[in-house]
Amino acid sequence: MAANLFTANGVSNLWRGCVSTGVRISARVMSAIHKEAGRSQDGSETGGILLGFEETRSGSFWVTQAGGPGPKAERSPTFFCRDLDHAERLAERAFSIDGSQWIGDWHTHPCGPSALSQVDLRSYRKVLANSCLEVFLAILLLPGSAGWLDPRAGAFLVSASEVERIPLSNLLGCEDFDLLATDADGRKRGR
Ligand SMILES: [Zn+2]
Repeated sequence: MAANLFTANGVSNLWRGCVSTGVRISARVMSAIHKEAGRSQDGSETGGILLGFEETRSGSFWVTQAGGPGPKAERSPTFFCRDLDHAERLAERAFSIDGSQWIGDWHTHPCGPSALSQVDLRSYRKVLANSCLEVFLAILLLPGSAGWLDPRAGAFLVSASEVERIPLSNLLGCEDFDLLATDADGRKRGR
C-alpha cells in the first residue's frame, strides 16, 4: 500500500478545525454499525469498538471506524462482551493507518432500556481506570419503528463520576473526511 498522505497529526488537526461539541460519524460508518446491529434480531446484544479522534476539552468526537463483535464475543439478551483480541487487532490496524485511537464502544439493547445499564457503566469505567482516556464514548442502539431495519442511536459520554448524553450527527457532509483516508495513489484505504 502506498504511503498515506495524511499523517495522524494531519488528520486530527484538520478535523479539530471543523467540528463542534458532539459525535460526528459518517453515513458509511453508521451504515456498517446498523448492518451489524441487525444481528440483534436474534434477541441478543451485539456491538464493537469505536475508533477515531477525540478532543475531550470541547467534547468533540469523530468516529472514523467501527468494529464488529469478533468471533469470540459473548452475546445474550442482556449482556455483550466484545472479543478483546479482535478489538485490539482492529485498533492496532486503524492506528497504523491514520492514528485513529480506541475512543469507545457501541452496542445494542434489543429489549431496552434506552440508557446505559449499570453493567455497561462498570465496564466502561474499568476501561477508563486502565487507560489514558478521560471519557469513554458509548453509542447505544435500540430497534426503531421498523425494528432493526431502522434502529435508533444515542451517544453517551461516560466519565469516572458522570454520564452525559451528547448529540450524535450522522452527517453526509462528514463523508468529506473519508477523502482523508484515501491513499496517495488515490485508492480508498482498506477497512
Ligand atoms: Zn448495555
